Amino acid sequence: NSNNSVKYDYLFKIVLAGDSGVGKSSILLRYCSDEFNLEQKMTIGIEFRSHDIEIENSKIKAQVWDTAGNERFRAVTPVYYRGAYGAILVYDITNHNTFQSLQYWLEEIRSRSNNPDVVLMLIGNKCDLKKLRAVPTDEARRFAEENGLSFLETSALDSTNVKLAFQIVLEKIFMNMK
Ligand code: GDP
Ligand code: MG
Repeated sequence: NSNNSVKYDYLFKIVLAGDSGVGKSSILLRYCSDEFNLEQKMTIGIEFRSHDIEIENSKIKAQVWDTAGNERFRAVTPVYYRGAYGAILVYDITNHNTFQSLQYWLEEIRSRSNNPDVVLMLIGNKCDLKKLRAVPTDEARRFAEENGLSFLETSALDSTNVKLAFQIVLEKIFMNMK
């Protein structure tokens, strides 16, 4: 059945991680549907959406997973991380507590993804809220360097760097496959 035939060369699972409220679901919505909703509804469980891109003539399906609420209790099931090729760690630049939680989320990903080569990207989200900034860019950049992470500041609200963040992760995963 041609309608149901697989239309991609590679499927890459990418997980979002980080404290509740940092904007994970909003980043997912921006990347996969190019939408934003200020009253982003909290859904419970695991959900994922997909986004297709092309790299060097290969069709890539990015399957982006969202913790969808249970991260509030740090009760994300290990299955969530399993088999991830990439992980995007998100904090909120206006909330330093969410930055301090990164070590926890990093260890979760490293210990549960079952992939020593998992590609990691650090995102400081809500960079549109410049006046409320609580995490200096330099502090985050240092953390990223110390832990071998790529780093960008993003805004799911105005779209800054959201596509670029996924592009960098997907290209790195793709290069690792070759
Ligand atoms: P999650 O709990 O990590 O999934 O975070 P949500 O995506 O639910 O976002 C939490 C709140 O922050 C919601 O009210 C969003 O509208 C808001 N939000 C998310 N991303 C941004 C952003 O880039 N800029 C601003 N100003 N607000 C954002
Ligand atoms: Mg959410």
